[in-house]
Amino acid sequence: MATLGIPANTIAVLQKYKFNFQKKFGQNFLIDTHVLEKIIESAGVTKDDFVLEIGPGIGTMTQYLCEAAREVTAVEIDTNLIPILEDTLSAYDNVTVINQDILKLDIKALAEEKNGGRPIKVVANLPYYITTPIIMGLFESHVPIDSITIMVQKEVADRMQVGPGTKEYGALSLAVQYYAKPEIVANVPPNCFMPRPNVGSAVIRLTRHEQVPVEVTDEKLMFRLIRASFNQRRKTLANGLNNSPEIHLSKEVIQQSIEELGEPVNVRGEKLSLEQFAELSNIIYKKLHA
Ligand code: SAM
Repeated sequence: MATLGIPANTIAVLQKYKFNFQKKFGQNFLIDTHVLEKIIESAGVTKDDFVLEIGPGIGTMTQYLCEAAREVTAVEIDTNLIPILEDTLSAYDNVTVINQDILKLDIKALAEEKNGGRPIKVVANLPYYITTPIIMGLFESHVPIDSITIMVQKEVADRMQVGPGTKEYGALSLAVQYYAKPEIVANVPPNCFMPRPNVGSAVIRLTRHEQVPVEVTDEKLMFRLIRASFNQRRKTLANGLNNSPEIHLSKEVIQQSIEELGEPVNVRGEKLSLEQFAELSNIIYKKLHA
């Protein structure tokens, strides 16, 4: 029985183990059963699924995942939480806890071992200080992923969802939307956590595209162009590309390419859609390989 979502039970566990929250690990534990149920429901976890949980904390969401999934692996960096997890998860025989930094774990090998290389579900209330590297790591390392359902800072969830013409639009929006369909499924206020974070949170589900939505000859080149154009947000796209140490193209080639795209040479990167970044990178690729 999942019991930790009730604040009194969380407090009892924290007191029993004299647990001290570590700010550097982004520890804000969920204490709201409705939010926990909503996360599990949005993730669509079934008894067929292998689920990777990042940062189980004291095991609150892990308990729900163990009830819903076939098998769960939970990766927790804080060694002080391991004996607590052994206790709170003792009723479940379908969970493995790994004491490691998620950024150092070979998730592809884990998916192979636990799920025969079939797409896995990732569910997490993420430590906010490393949200972007975790998400990008999951996508870029070509781990077989079905979906990622995560609690993140509200502002970051917004950035993942928006398109050109908004101030939140940037490299994260484009990267997420290249790999997945984002959908915010709940907004979560600070009082659903212990301790309370200083920011609002949101649960977002990223459903991996079966096929990427645009045709790109060289993915790495497209992402170099995207990074370069948002690194210097207030500059024009041409200047951003020209000043980037990652891109070695003459000013003339850059300007010609932007014109071929059908945009004025003084266009800003933030005006371009994913389709246009893909097209621009294909134009530049051709020029580089002519
Ligand atoms: N899942 C729990 C919950 O919802 O109550 C805890 C969520 S808390 C926001 C984030 C958790 O991630 C903490 O337990 C923290 O120790 C863990 N964590 C932080 N950095 C990590 C990393 N690099 N690798 C694995 N876990 C990490």
